[in-house]
Formats: sequence, structure tokens, C-alpha cells
Amino acid sequence: MGLFLNVPYEEKDEAKALGAKWNPRARKWYADVPRQDYLKFAKWILRDTDNTVIATEYIFIVEGQRSCWNCGRSTRLVGLGIGEHIHMFDDGDGPQFEIMEDYVDAGEELHLAWTDREDEIPPKVRKYLKEKYSVKTGYSKTIHRDCFANHCDHCGALQGNFFVFQETDSPLNLMAEGDELIKRASKLKVFMIPIDDDLQLNWDVGFGSTDYAYFKYGHCEELILSSDPENDYISYEELYDL
Ligand SMILES: [Zn+2]
Repeated sequence: MGLFLNVPYEEKDEAKALGAKWNPRARKWYADVPRQDYLKFAKWILRDTDNTVIATEYIFIVEGQRSCWNCGRSTRLVGLGIGEHIHMFDDGDGPQFEIMEDYVDAGEELHLAWTDREDEIPPKVRKYLKEKYSVKTGYSKTIHRDCFANHCDHCGALQGNFFVFQETDSPLNLMAEGDELIKRASKLKVFMIPIDDDLQLNWDVGFGSTDYAYFKYGHCEELILSSDPENDYISYEELYDL
């Protein structure tokens, strides 16, 4: 268990000196240290971004339904999610991080997530999503570019990411309160994928005050993607087909 890093070849000695280890199967360096010490490796974690999340323990698939804007029939919609995680960022004063479980109890909240770019989803999860749901990369006339998105199970019409994830009445994001919140959350299925290694994910993650409701009212079940009969927690190598 650890955090895999994108270390360029010419920086390998620096990573090694900080305690990174080499995984020959993945052909990658990884941080095999307590999570508090991930900050030492911020140079590689924050290489292409100033704000990232590292999922720990589980990643999630959230499934809901709504009427297709085009054909009017009820279609499934799917999103991703993170639960326990580390937030690493650099506001200009050097890298900082927070282990979110220091603020909320472990396993208490799910934060809905998605990405326009399918290559940001580990291949094993992406394959599962594409086999089970009507998701694919398609051209969006609204934002004038290709994006990974839900499509109607019946007519194939693109169901735009903004509507699915950000509109107040979208089925997946639970921007509601009282009975309406319970009603919406209780229609959702939450699939929990146990992960062996911590995962840096460049997903768009939404944080909301009702993020506890996914676990409290949704239908939760474990989804085992690991092919190892001894270990339900899927490894980094298997998630990335290495
Ligand atoms: Zn349709």
C-alpha cells in the first residue's frame, strides 16, 4: 500500500533519497510512508496542478435515474465519488495538505465526482463503466468539445455533465433538504470499490453539506473489481492494467 508517483527518470535519485520505492511491475516510484509524510513528495504530486485529491480506502460509483430530455424515457445516470481522502494544494505559500478524516469521521461522507476526460479514470473502472452503463466520450454542442458523459439508455442522446452533476435538480448531487433530500438520496445506488493503494485523482469533486446522505439513505453495496480471491482491495497495478 502506498501512493504511486510520476517521477521523471532524471529525478529518480531525489525521489529515492526521500524514501520512495521502486515497483518493477508498475515501473513506477511510490511513496511507501505514513500519509502524513506524503507532503515530502509534493513536488511530483502537484506537478501539473495546484490542487488535488488523493482517495484512500474506497472510490465510488453512484447510480441514479431521470427522464431523458430527448425521448422522455427514464434512463440511468452514473457518477463517480470519493470518500476518505487527502487534499493537497499550494496557494502560493508552498505545498500544504489536510487529511480530511481529521475533520469528519471516516466513512461518513461521499463527495460526488466526475471528469470530462475518460483517461483520468483508472482503466479497470473505465472499462466497467463502459460495459455496464451508456457512458462514452462524445461531442457536446453546448461546450463545443469532446467530453466523457452519460448517454440515454434508450435513444443515445447525450445527457450533459452540467445538468447531471451541477444543476440544483439533478438526480445525483443531492442539493436538497428535508424530505426531498431523503427522497432523492434513497433512489440512489452507491457502489463502494475497495482500493489497496491511495489514488491521486484529477477528477472534479463537489463538496456539499448533504454529502452524508449518500451513505445514510442510498443503497450501498461493495463492488469488488480485484481479481485476487485473497484480497478484495484492488491494487494500483490492476486498476491501471500494469
Ligand atoms: Zn432518450
